[in-house]
Amino acid sequence: MLYKRSSQLFAEAEKVIPGGVNSPVRAFKAVGGTPIFVKSAKGAYLYDEDGNKLIDYINSWGPMILGHAYEPVVEAVVERAKLGTSFGMPTELETQIAALAVKMVPNIDKIRFVNSGTEACMSAIRLARGYTKRDKIIKFAGCYHGHSDSFLIQAGSGAITFGSPNSPGVTAGTAKDTLLARYNDLSNVAELITANPNEIAAIIVEPVAGNMGCIPPKEGFLEGLRQLCTDNGILLIFDEVMTGFRLASGGVQELVGVTSDIVCFGKVIGGGLPVGAFAARAEIMNYLAPLGPVYQAGTLSGNPLAMAAGLAMLQALDADRDVFNRLKDKTAYLAAGIDRVLRNNNVVFTINTIGSMISVHFDENAVVDFQTAAKGDNETFKKFFHGLLQEGIYIAPSAYETWFITDALTYEDLDFTIQAIDKVSKTF
Ligand SMILES: *Cc1c(COP(=O)(O)O)cnc(C)c1O
Repeated sequence: MLYKRSSQLFAEAEKVIPGGVNSPVRAFKAVGGTPIFVKSAKGAYLYDEDGNKLIDYINSWGPMILGHAYEPVVEAVVERAKLGTSFGMPTELETQIAALAVKMVPNIDKIRFVNSGTEACMSAIRLARGYTKRDKIIKFAGCYHGHSDSFLIQAGSGAITFGSPNSPGVTAGTAKDTLLARYNDLSNVAELITANPNEIAAIIVEPVAGNMGCIPPKEGFLEGLRQLCTDNGILLIFDEVMTGFRLASGGVQELVGVTSDIVCFGKVIGGGLPVGAFAARAEIMNYLAPLGPVYQAGTLSGNPLAMAAGLAMLQALDADRDVFNRLKDKTAYLAAGIDRVLRNNNVVFTINTIGSMISVHFDENAVVDFQTAAKGDNETFKKFFHGLLQEGIYIAPSAYETWFITDALTYEDLDFTIQAIDKVSKTF
């Protein structure tokens, strides 16, 4: 397949946009080559500017769980746009999506909508600090909670890909309030709590990590965090920006039966429009302005187009709970197929998967945290990525990213992908 026009468009973009992209993971820096410019997408497929059709395993980094240009979402946005695109005043739509989210997700009474996952996590931390009157937070190496200052301390996703875990521009003052723990390591968390008595406001965690590849929590890890938080007056924040409305209708809280104090959303909740949200019990949410002292705001928060898209998406998921089983079955089928062909071709690998998230790591050891994720063979990953691109399959251009399975994928698409992986891995 040729990607000639994409290369030309990228050259034009580089002149006026830093690195040619508006978010670093879109660049192909980790794998080499130039990004593909997309023209349109429908269902499980992308159509690029060179006329290529690609099977999409990124799906806008998660939101398009029911496939691209999903009719009810598109219709909702189009109809809503005719009524005006932003008011800076309340709309009934905001209450409708809030009520549905509160119904679908366990342990939340109220939810506030923002414009991105970054904003959701940033606001959740401020709320936790205001509520507990403490300054420090614990985050896990390799977990990504958006690009706000407090979280750019050994963050996952693009922040690992580009080897700048501690970004310039984050002050030492901010960094000192972020304590770093190892994912899946409870005793490490307990040590940090002991060393900082009554100082920790919150532990923020991706309850299933997805930004250092897919790393499910070990048995007892989330339960242990819950207990440590309860025992020490710390709020437990589940960053479900990736996993919310994806791994189950009620997210990881529902999946594993562990209660978080604040939960953050993004990606699927916006149906492909820029939406984030954070939610908690009323006593915590009432700490927010205008009811409480913790300030948080947004001119375009709760934007009607974004809310229309999100509402249509959540309604579709709520009406068809079997979707999560279908997604899980498709992912398991794909994982088994990849396992078979890589094994046959004597490739060293580990596949991590849970629900509709999957990642392939080119290392034989179990991948359970940032350290073990970082051991993967990047040279093999580059060949894998570019080989698949030639076969018309688009996976994330970094070894540290999860693939997202969409309901629009057919078993024929999955078979095609497995065959392509067989072919590509013979050339390693
Ligand atoms: C994507 C992501 C974010 C950031 O969301 P944006 O909408 O990109 O700002 C935060 N946390 C997690 C777990 C994510 O996957």
